[in-house]
Parts: sequence; structure tokens; C-alpha cells
Amino acid sequence: MASLEQRLKSLAGSLGADLVGMTTRAVLSDGPPSADPRYLLPSAKSVVSYAVSLDTDIAVDFIRKKTWRPHCENRKSIAQTLYRIGDALVAELRSEGYDAVNVDLNNNYRPEEGAADVTEMTAFHPEFSHRYAALAAGVGRLGWSGNLLTREYGALVELGSVLTSAALAADAPIPDQDHPCDKCKMCSLVCPVEMIHKKASTRVTVAGITETIARKQPNTCCWIGCTGYEGLARSGEWSNWSPFRLGRPLPEDKRALDALCIRLQKLDPQMAAGDTCFSDYRQAVFDPDWFYYTVCGFCRSVCSPHREERIARRKMIVQSGTAALHLDGSHDVADENALTVPTPFGLNVVVPRDDLAEARTEIRKWPGQFPLDREVVAYLCREGT
Ligand code: SF4
Ligand code: SF4
Repeated sequence: MASLEQRLKSLAGSLGADLVGMTTRAVLSDGPPSADPRYLLPSAKSVVSYAVSLDTDIAVDFIRKKTWRPHCENRKSIAQTLYRIGDALVAELRSEGYDAVNVDLNNNYRPEEGAADVTEMTAFHPEFSHRYAALAAGVGRLGWSGNLLTREYGALVELGSVLTSAALAADAPIPDQDHPCDKCKMCSLVCPVEMIHKKASTRVTVAGITETIARKQPNTCCWIGCTGYEGLARSGEWSNWSPFRLGRPLPEDKRALDALCIRLQKLDPQMAAGDTCFSDYRQAVFDPDWFYYTVCGFCRSVCSPHREERIARRKMIVQSGTAALHLDGSHDVADENALTVPTPFGLNVVVPRDDLAEARTEIRKWPGQFPLDREVVAYLCREGT
């Protein structure tokens, strides 16, 4: 009969996992606090780590601003797959008498002193780090970006983890000579808010491996860029898929940056709604009406396993133009006539001039997939400019 490890791997593979590995609490014990599985499962002895790859063609169309929604939909579908894989592994382990927990995929952070809720957080330490587990389990290694890089798919993967009281045999981490990151620094060059330093580094140790990765700006910097409060690169020539602009550079001082992030989150209609992907990510992922709004992740999407592709993708990004918000709720590439107009949400928004002209004369019907977009569109239709 196949071993428990083999059966778990084969089960995960049959449900769509592209890569699967195992590690143990003991192997993870030299890592940062979020590498400790006992935070979520006190009896945890082992972790099953698995990855599902994103659709490369769709991701490339996303970064070159050919299409926006398919990448959002691809991410949602993969999140559902990851939850299903985790549920099946948990059921299998429990049927054998072990404790098991399917770790939430996103938006579950450890409490922070002084932060009443996610809008006041600044560190965003996960309850359990899928990346550290994947590194320890031999699924990938940490790249310069800090993302998990695999040899097969580069950084274009989404990760899941199941914690269990079963004592599983650990897989070996990927050795240094096979490290998938060659420090090309394309990830640094495609971050619109310059989160990832090009030269300065820091170190993180997990599973006996010390990774040298980029020194980063405070996590609120990525939160501002990845949520889309600021999408424009410093050059002004390209952006991620966000049509929102702060209209001034991000503060360099951490306290000022954190305060700005908190202020923007407090003004964000998504954060004001009680029932969001921040209150229950899993429920959102399986809600057929929920739109998986994603505007960035460029540091990940640029990162192919092949250097020449990374260089080509970076070029696509910096030549992709800037994003604008149509008043039907869709995002597109701004043309030279687009206007930047203020909103009541602490942000300016880029809108095609023709859309604004029509907004004054007719009431538009629009899907309005994202609360901030929806409220901004309502404001523009109401107020004109
Ligand atoms: S883009 Fe280059 S430097 Fe950045 S993580 Fe990928 S391989 Fe490493
Ligand atoms: S997700 Fe976007 S904002 Fe965040 S580090 Fe990556 S490129 Fe920068």
C-alpha cells in the first residue's frame, strides 16, 4: 500500500495541484513566527504545501494591458481549486484519525497591538506563511522579490497549506545550485510604488536555508500599490491596472506612510462594508457574484523561469501605458484625452473624457464590480466635473 505521503500527494495532484511537498514543524522551527504551524493547530507536527500555476498567457495579457478581467477570474478559479485541494487533504487526514486544518489563503493576519481591525494594520503578518512552508517543503525558493519562485513556473503560482498532527516525512528543500532566482531585478523595476529595493538586501532563514532577498519598503507601501490606491510609476509613463492616483509621492518616513495607508483604508468603501473578503476570504472566493479585483502583482507576473522572458515582460509593462476607469466600471488603457479628477476618497481618478461628458447627460447602468470603483462612478455621475 502507498504511504500516507504518497496518497496525499496523489490526491492533491488529482485535484489540480501542480507541485506538492511536505515539511515538518521541526524543520520550520528556525523560521520567523509565521512559520510556526502551532499558531493555528497546537498539535501540528507537519505541513502539506501545494501550488497551482496561473495561466501564463492570461497573466502576460494582464501585464501588457491587453486584458484585465481574465487574470482576475483566473486567480479566483485557482483560489477555489486551492481550497478544494485543502479540504480533500483535511478529510483524508481526519479519516485516518489525525487533526488537520486547511489554512486560509489570504487576508488572515495576526493581531497587531493598537490595531482595532485590518484598516489599522501596518505589518500584516499572516497567521501561517504559505511561502515559508513551500520553501521548507521543496516547492520553491524565495526570490529577490520575496515571492516564492518555482523552477517550473517561476513566481506564477498560488500556494496552499494543510497543517496536520500526522508525522509526515519531510521533503528536502531545493538546493542552492538549483535556486530559481538569478537576481535579474526585473521585479524591482516593475513595482509602481518601488517597494522592492534594487540593491539593498536582507536575510531570512527557514528550514536551515538563509535566503538573501531585497530590502523592502514598509508593508503599507505594497498595500497602497497592490490595493490600487496608487498605480502610477514615478516616471508617470506606466501604471498597474489601478486608475487611482495620490497626486504626490509616497512618504519616505514609515510613520507617515503607515498613517497615509490607514487614512486611505478608512475612506475606502470596501473597508466600510462589514461583509467583505477581509472578513471571510473563503466565502468571497466561492461567491459567484464576487469580483476578484486585482490590479497589481506585477513583481510576481514578471517572474518567468526564463531570464529573457522576464526582460521581455518588464519591457511590456513599461510600454503598457496607464490605466483609466470607464464609467461602466471597467478598466482600460488611458488615451491622451483622459482626465484626472479628484474624488471624496483621498484619491484622484483617471477617467476618459468622453465618459465624463456622457455622465452629465444620462444615468448610466454599470456593473460596478469593486466598491471603490462603484462609489467613484456614482460620485462622478452625480457630480459631473
Ligand atoms: S524577477 Fe528576477 S530577481 Fe526578481 S525574483 Fe524573479 S528571478 Fe529573482
Ligand atoms: S504587488 Fe505590486 S505594489 Fe506590491 S510589491 Fe508587487 S509590484 Fe509592488
